[in-house]
Amino acid sequence: MFSYRHAFHAGNHADVLKHTTLIALMKYLTQKDTALTVIDTHAGAGLYRLDGDYTETSGEALEGIFKLLSEPKQPVTQTQRAPAATKKVAPPASGEAPAAPVAKSGPAAGWAPALQDYLEVLRGLNPHFAQTGDPAHLKIYPGSPFIEQQFLSGRDKLKLFELHPTDFKSLSGNIEQLGVGRQVAVAREDGFEALKTFLPPPARRAMVLCDPSYEIKSDYARVSACMADAVKRFATGTYVVWYPIIPRPEAHDLPRKLKTLAVKAGRSWLNATLTVKSSKLTTDVTGEVKRPGLPASGMFVINPPHTLKAELQAALPQMVALLGQDRNAGFTLDHGG
Ligand code: SAM
Repeated sequence: MFSYRHAFHAGNHADVLKHTTLIALMKYLTQKDTALTVIDTHAGAGLYRLDGDYTETSGEALEGIFKLLSEPKQPVTQTQRAPAATKKVAPPASGEAPAAPVAKSGPAAGWAPALQDYLEVLRGLNPHFAQTGDPAHLKIYPGSPFIEQQFLSGRDKLKLFELHPTDFKSLSGNIEQLGVGRQVAVAREDGFEALKTFLPPPARRAMVLCDPSYEIKSDYARVSACMADAVKRFATGTYVVWYPIIPRPEAHDLPRKLKTLAVKAGRSWLNATLTVKSSKLTTDVTGEVKRPGLPASGMFVINPPHTLKAELQAALPQMVALLGQDRNAGFTLDHGG
């Protein structure tokens, strides 16, 4: 069960989608005066080295964050269901303080605000990258716990769950170094089960990120059962589920099930997907059949803030233009309720 280590995948295209969305959510939800409880059911190690053994072995960040920081290779493609989101994004209004240099390149029309915020978080952890804008100086990649923690105000709480013994140890150590005391709690518990004990939260405001590894098939059913239970316990929470888009029936069913549950509960929902390449098997020159790796992923949000759709509508075409690897690249952005 414990073969999945997020360090192999840190900074890949799925992380770009997940973390850009997470930042947009955290930024909005922490603006209010009432305390927010953030629950991360599958936290991972919290911080990853982009020049470490794991990430270098997998090279996934090269097709994710590092590719995002390189020149666009192809025009934006939208799937048929995607809204007309090709409108150019204006650069920051003149008079605003110019952002620190980000990268040597980027979209010609300027980064979409949600991607600017994502890069700002990366700059915060990588001072040398912030100074030079050189992707070669991007050494540390934040996992969801560090992103969430950065946006908390004094009254907010963060609950982190991680089952893997090594990742739990790393996460605990990484969080301890922040010196944030009891505001952030880390537990080696099953996140699906633990969530129940925190809903409804004391101040009746919560955001839950559910980001399992889907290493075992039963994770798909556990995600939908866990979200159904959570919405029953606390209908107005913001629930965020990352899921892989792979040729597997459970993976296709999951967003449908989440939509059905949101609609039945009378809650609003948003579903954003990013495809970077074809999911087809290929054959190399030696005749060996190659798996494509993860071709696409999605973020399903129940009770999204009203601002999220516009943020993603501007950011997704840029992700496609920068991360797309073949003509199958595209995005969808659906919502309802
Ligand atoms: N959310 C993290 C991020 O964005 O940086 C990545 C999480 S990773 C995709 C999934 C993590 O869940 C792995 O570290 C895995 O060890 C852990 N895990 C697997 N099953 C779990 C469970 N039932 N409860 C809590 N953690 C679990």
